Amino acid sequence: MAAPITTISDSKDRQGLNLIAAHSHIRGLGVTPDTLTPKANADGLVGQQQARKAASVILQMVKEGKIAGRAVLISGPPSTGKTAIAIGMSKGLGEDTPFTMLASSEIFSLDMSKTEALEQAFRKSIGVRIREESEVIEGEVVEIQIDRSVTGSNKSGKLTLKTTDMETLYDMGTRMIDSMTKEKVMAGDVISIDKASGRITKLGRSYTRSRDYDAMGPDTKFVQCPDGELQVRRETVHTVSLHEIDVINSRTQGFLALFSGDTGEIRSEVREQINTKVAEWREEGKAEIVPGVLFIDEVHMLDIECFSFINRALEDELAPIVIMASNRGSTTIRGTSYRSPHGLPLDFLDRVVIISTHPYNADEIRSILSIRAQEEEVDVSADALALLTKIGQETGLRYASNLITTSHLLSQKRRAKEVDVADVQRSFGLFYDPSRSVKFVTEYEKRFIGEDGGVTLGGAT
Ligand code: ATP
Repeated sequence: MAAPITTISDSKDRQGLNLIAAHSHIRGLGVTPDTLTPKANADGLVGQQQARKAASVILQMVKEGKIAGRAVLISGPPSTGKTAIAIGMSKGLGEDTPFTMLASSEIFSLDMSKTEALEQAFRKSIGVRIREESEVIEGEVVEIQIDRSVTGSNKSGKLTLKTTDMETLYDMGTRMIDSMTKEKVMAGDVISIDKASGRITKLGRSYTRSRDYDAMGPDTKFVQCPDGELQVRRETVHTVSLHEIDVINSRTQGFLALFSGDTGEIRSEVREQINTKVAEWREEGKAEIVPGVLFIDEVHMLDIECFSFINRALEDELAPIVIMASNRGSTTIRGTSYRSPHGLPLDFLDRVVIISTHPYNADEIRSILSIRAQEEEVDVSADALALLTKIGQETGLRYASNLITTSHLLSQKRRAKEVDVADVQRSFGLFYDPSRSVKFVTEYEKRFIGEDGGVTLGGAT
């Protein structure tokens, strides 16, 4: 099998570029680590304490590997931080825990069936941590920084030891090295061992990058074999997603598809083979599963087939935790004529844990806008911030946040150091918020191009 490529961070990076800017101020869930109590304003998150507490409890369970195959729904009105909280969770996950983000509408536009797109999203959200040990090649010179555990003798050109007591071993080994190098070798020293000749040389107290550098470092360890031989081994750990293993092993795609992202559909036999292989690795202790998080935004956009797929996929032994977000109240379940809360079928809703987010008060809006201004490195006068807050209360947080950027451009034009009330007012006049846009469309409806492509001019067709 081709060597797996670690591209977990790649999937994290590609999870929606447009979201990175909007949420770049978010660094975590802003809770105290021991009690998981949310602070009023921390890690870029403001307010929404109940939802953040609930999210941090779930995050803790994910981190402890206690939760997989569960579904969580974050529901609340637009711009109340549902996505922000999901991003906060992703920041709290371990480096190699996969987090995949999917906007529901995406799956209808990809060049594959919607269930295949979902299957890929699920498998991107499951990590396989693979541990590999390899012996350093005979005759190779290894440099090792001593951390009280270096031991050995040069008998027959091999590193050999004659005790199983590790404490004695450390002592004995250090003494042996002392006598070989004719110098006192202490923790922190760097020695080189030529495995062919058994020659040990003290090099000094700091690493010099050499061609053998790869053979050492934190991944290098000594392993005592049953025959008493001491081997120097390199232990490498890499985490890849199940999807990456699928792609690498898919004859039609090949690993290059990982770079283009154009992986196409993957045959179910490939996935079955991979599942069997991974199960074998787990049995042999070579691999462990790292269940990650799949975040599905605008979940009400999914249809009934997608919901049945997710329902089934959650039962699988290798399932991630699925976090969904919706800003809809009661709405029609796509693909049916039934209405249901958040557009989710009732049997599906039944197995979902719900976290709700609430509208912000003026103080919270002001704090969020202030954080956004700092993030964009824009100085805003106190009056301008007060006006932006008022606009945020009336039109929505997202619009007010966007006005920071446009007002900044206007202030720059007049070479001002900070955004002032006039810049915000001007920006407000130039760029419409959704409700003014709706009003405009309603007023001038007859002048717009209709669904049939026809234009109505001056009231006459
Ligand atoms: P929608 O239902 O429209 O998708 P949403 O609930 O997912 O909205 P977000 O996209 O998370 O809302 O929030 C809108 C903007 O406000 C984003 O830039 C987000 O980072 C920011 N934001 C929202 N809530 C908070 C918060 N509590 N603290 C800091 N920033 C927030």
